[in-house]
Amino acid sequence: MSSFYEIIPSIDPDRIKVKLRDVTTKQVKALLDSINSGGIPQTDDIAILTSPAAGELLEPMAQLAKDITLRRFGRTIQMYAPLYISNHCSNSCVYCGFNVHNKISRRTSGREEILSEARLLKNKHISQLLLVSGECPAEVGIDLLEKTAGDLKGLFPSLSIEIYPLDTPEYRRLYDAGIDGLAIYQETYDQEIYSMVHPAGPKRDYQYRLGAPERGAAAGFRQIGIGSLLGLNNWRVESYYLMQHAAYLMKHHWKSQISISFPRLRPAAGGYSPDYPVSDRELVQMICAFRLLLPDAGLVLSTREPAELRDHLIGLGITRMSAGSKTAPGGYLDKTDNKPDEYGPAAEGQFNVSDDRPVKEVAQSIRAKGYDTVWKDWDKGFEDNPK
Ligand code: SF4
Repeated sequence: MSSFYEIIPSIDPDRIKVKLRDVTTKQVKALLDSINSGGIPQTDDIAILTSPAAGELLEPMAQLAKDITLRRFGRTIQMYAPLYISNHCSNSCVYCGFNVHNKISRRTSGREEILSEARLLKNKHISQLLLVSGECPAEVGIDLLEKTAGDLKGLFPSLSIEIYPLDTPEYRRLYDAGIDGLAIYQETYDQEIYSMVHPAGPKRDYQYRLGAPERGAAAGFRQIGIGSLLGLNNWRVESYYLMQHAAYLMKHHWKSQISISFPRLRPAAGGYSPDYPVSDRELVQMICAFRLLLPDAGLVLSTREPAELRDHLIGLGITRMSAGSKTAPGGYLDKTDNKPDEYGPAAEGQFNVSDDRPVKEVAQSIRAKGYDTVWKDWDKGFEDNPK
């Protein structure tokens, strides 16, 4: 079976940089006019829309992105929340608070604790849950995930995972247990940078990680989320790779809905500072560019971004937002004193959340902008053979 990994050598970052540099505002205007009048853009056009020249035309780009989003998705924003199961990890990603070398307080939630936290989220109307963990199969193995899915599937119509990459049969076990979505970000598509920021651990295997969305789609996952960790590489070049990856998955795995996330690096234990910081304006340009070229893709924004920017982005392309997120296992339990509880020591989070508003407040902001919050977009009863 073919793989996107085979396409990677044909993408030349130096050629992309030249293309980005040479784009003119005239070319950008022509492309925007064409999209506006129903023309079908090419995936290569991402270089035009993420160019510095397009940055000067952000207002018309944003207006067009807004119109397209409205036409395809209406005035709706889907809501979800992450639930961290474990902050143990065998990897040494230089940008992450869970890096094995960081001396942080660690814990893995058991089924009872996960269920308690999940119920708290359910009480806040969350119906789409993302289970997250570091890469430590000894702590969070397939068995635990399978049983957890069994515990939660009655409460949550949509369950997704953001964990270490697996083989297709393992993904299939989780799909059969009731998990229908997979989020796995390549972090950076540049193999040299990838090696530098992942100096040790199983995550060093670029090819295995890159193949995970394909293996997940082959296992049957209904939703596949991909993304680049913004700050590790030139965001314009990274967007080019990401667009090609999304287009590849849409073509070869059309039964899965592909969504794109835009995680920007946040301060975390270890104090990593990004080599390629991405400004708010550049982030908006990237989101608009993806909306213009992928009108039907889900575009996801997490609480890594500040409240004001998230509010501003409602309607401009984003279709899915997390809210009230905690990035530590046990984080939703009421632990105001940071002391151990019945489940173990208070654990540290993966990164500092920027938008720390409660779910209710985020929902109010969305409604104040004239948009509806969608808590549930799917029911397993819709499937031909519901599990
Ligand atoms: S990014 Fe993921 S794999 Fe890397 S250290 Fe953090 S939790 Fe582990």
